[in-house]
Amino acid sequence: MQAQVTGLHHITAIASDPRQNLDFYTRILGLRFVKKSVNQDDPGTYHLYYGDYAASPGTILTFFPWAGLPRGRSGTGQAWATAFSVPDGSLSYWMERLKKLGVPQQPVEQRFTEEVLPFTDPDGLRLELVAADETDPRLAAPSKDVPAGFAIRGFHSSTLALTDSTATAQVLTASMGYTMTNQMGHRARYSPGTGRPGTHVDLLTDPALPRGLSGAGTIHHVAFRVTDDAQEVAAREILRKSGLSVSPVIDRAYFKSIYYREPGGVLFEIATDGPGFAIDEPVDQLGTKLGLPPHLEPHRAEIEAALPKLG
Ligand code: ZN
Repeated sequence: MQAQVTGLHHITAIASDPRQNLDFYTRILGLRFVKKSVNQDDPGTYHLYYGDYAASPGTILTFFPWAGLPRGRSGTGQAWATAFSVPDGSLSYWMERLKKLGVPQQPVEQRFTEEVLPFTDPDGLRLELVAADETDPRLAAPSKDVPAGFAIRGFHSSTLALTDSTATAQVLTASMGYTMTNQMGHRARYSPGTGRPGTHVDLLTDPALPRGLSGAGTIHHVAFRVTDDAQEVAAREILRKSGLSVSPVIDRAYFKSIYYREPGGVLFEIATDGPGFAIDEPVDQLGTKLGLPPHLEPHRAEIEAALPKLG
């Protein structure tokens, strides 16, 4: 039995300064600020969500920003890099744009049949833009800073760094419906079904990499998507029967989630597509009101007063 995972849902990372984080992802990358919420385990800090116009699953990069938090170290046992899909032919625009705005970038590299532009955010988080030659039917939403012809369409892939990928690959293929679709050097690509941008997971097997340490500029977890609550419950049973320790289903208001650590050390989540981010503010106003889960709603005034100002 395999869980009916259809791709990536969201990816959550750790940042330091929330204002710097908001500026980078909205102004420089042109993503939409789609939800301002709080860390449910630490309501004195934000949980900031960026994505496409409609906050579609597969486009959502989120952050827990803690002001002054020291940097972590990217390495094994972590999601190593987060790749976004951009239109074919748009990398020269992005190279120029990142250079002009002082964003550190590395030379474009060839990965399988595609060109990849690696760069980092202000906390050193590893990001990539992939000029996808696969058909990516998702609409590139223009922002006031990035025209539609160059705009990010959502995730392309997540790369996990591992000392040994055997057990991780086993979880992906035996329980999550992924198959290996490409392989090159230390990198193997896994995709569900026929695969498309927004679904891929690359396993980078390199024992020479340092062990990852959590901190600003590192990924906290990678969330995969299932269509509904029934698929979520089914996925939990399949993963539990495979021997993994899986959390109960947790209601995150915008989606329901289960969490488990894959054998290579990366925290995985499976989240439902619904109900989505428009449950507490209309789509054209996403990101404007502080979103709180029902159990924190009675404390709204204190929570809002304690949070740092974003702008
Ligand atoms: Zn999550």
